[in-house]
Amino acid sequence: MPSRLYLKLVAAFLGVLLLGAVLTVVLTRRATRLAFGTYTERSAQAWAQRLAPVLADYYQRTGSWEGIDMFLHMAEMWPRGRMGQGMMGSESGHMMPLQPTLLGRVLAQRLVLVDASGRVVLDTQGLWEGQSAPAEALALGAPIRVGNSQVGTLLVLPAGVTGAATLESEFLRAVNRAVLGAVIIASVAALIIVALIVYRIIAPLRRLQRAAQAIAKGDLSQRVPVATQDEIGAVSLAFNEMATSLERAEKARRQMVADVAHELRTPLAVLQANLEAMQDGVLPMDSEQIRVLNDQVQLLNRLVADLRLLSLAESGHLTLEKQPTELLPLVQKVTGQFEAAAAQKAIHLEIIAPDNLPALPLDAQRIQQVFANLLDNALRYTPEGGNIRIEITPDPHAHKVTVAVNDTGPGIPREDLPHVFERFYRADKSRARSRGGSGLGLAIVKQLVHLHGGEVRATSPIYTDPSGKGYGTRLEFTLPILPRT
Ligand code: ATP
Ligand code: MG
Repeated sequence: MPSRLYLKLVAAFLGVLLLGAVLTVVLTRRATRLAFGTYTERSAQAWAQRLAPVLADYYQRTGSWEGIDMFLHMAEMWPRGRMGQGMMGSESGHMMPLQPTLLGRVLAQRLVLVDASGRVVLDTQGLWEGQSAPAEALALGAPIRVGNSQVGTLLVLPAGVTGAATLESEFLRAVNRAVLGAVIIASVAALIIVALIVYRIIAPLRRLQRAAQAIAKGDLSQRVPVATQDEIGAVSLAFNEMATSLERAEKARRQMVADVAHELRTPLAVLQANLEAMQDGVLPMDSEQIRVLNDQVQLLNRLVADLRLLSLAESGHLTLEKQPTELLPLVQKVTGQFEAAAAQKAIHLEIIAPDNLPALPLDAQRIQQVFANLLDNALRYTPEGGNIRIEITPDPHAHKVTVAVNDTGPGIPREDLPHVFERFYRADKSRARSRGGSGLGLAIVKQLVHLHGGEVRATSPIYTDPSGKGYGTRLEFTLPILPRT
């Protein structure tokens, strides 16, 4: 089935062709009329000038215009072949090779002879015969002189509808035939060109359409070939990029669902197993067992809350309530909450910060959560007797403040560093699971810091300084300072 674009292209081509043809015909007709008109007029006058002496010769010989029509008719029957050889020569007498009537016809013109009194004695078309010629026609005629006196006037006039008009219309018919031929040839060429264009434009468009339909049906592996560098090629390229990003997003979504299901399964399985054991009397229903169950419920609760926060932040639906906030008191407050846990592991907590910290535009609750997540990790991974050092460093030139949490834990292997901010990522899977981490903490940190316009960074100095004196892990985030106005 020919496509609509195909039909439009064919119609456009044929339309332009037709317009060209019509314009050619109209303009040729006008130009031909003009040229023929001028030519007829000029040659009429020239012929009148050239014929006049011949007629004068006749008058001189006969003394009147009597018999002039016979003379001209006889002349008509003279051999054609001698025409144009010297129509004015007089040495060969009155039988000179002149064919006025014939000439008149060839030229498609009308000869009118007017005598000295102004009366028409001859009209090859018989229109004015016996009448007096109109003065304006006489003025254009060639005077016929014998000696010093004018014996008549010769008018050569356009023959009206016949003659020149026939020649002209014949010429125009030829032009029309040529134009028609050109239109037919050009139409065939247009169809071939359109077929080529269709091949080059519509074929890739069709491929795009099919691929888009397949994607709509869920086949995200669809790609189209990018054959050209033109707009179609650009569209194909953009289409492929879109398909790739759709495929990636779909993959991420599936991974996310799988991860969430996986994370929920463990605490749910523990809950179920413990409840069943209690039901069967295998486990006592005492406060210790209830504490275990409650822990699992809390874990589930935290997991769901983290997921919700993360999905809100990632989809841009988390609105921050930013207010100018002093950073140091905030950090001190959160650190205070972790002091008991630190004391249990004999971990030394220290905060290093300058006095002149500027107030920052923060959502205090969210930044507390960011900092708590970092401190929670540090405490979790730092062995007993270790050290956690919190550094706050303003950088007025870069308009930011950096908050870093350094610990003396085992560090994060180089190959894991780029991934620790991904959700559900755990550098050491078995160990992290045994300690209850689900791998969402740093993903949340990253989202919340980005929402504040800051950056996150994880480094492991212990791997770059293997002397063992460096810190195990350094996790830092920046917060922008509003430029002073
Ligand atoms: P969650 O925070 O959701 O309870 P988690 O702590 O395992 O779980 P993240 O906070 O996102 O998850 O950390 C991701 C991974 O990065 C951790 O599993 C751990 O392997 C590694 N990691 C993070 N902080 C440290 C640290 N201070 N020292 C060593 N490894 C760390
Ligand atoms: Mg964590």
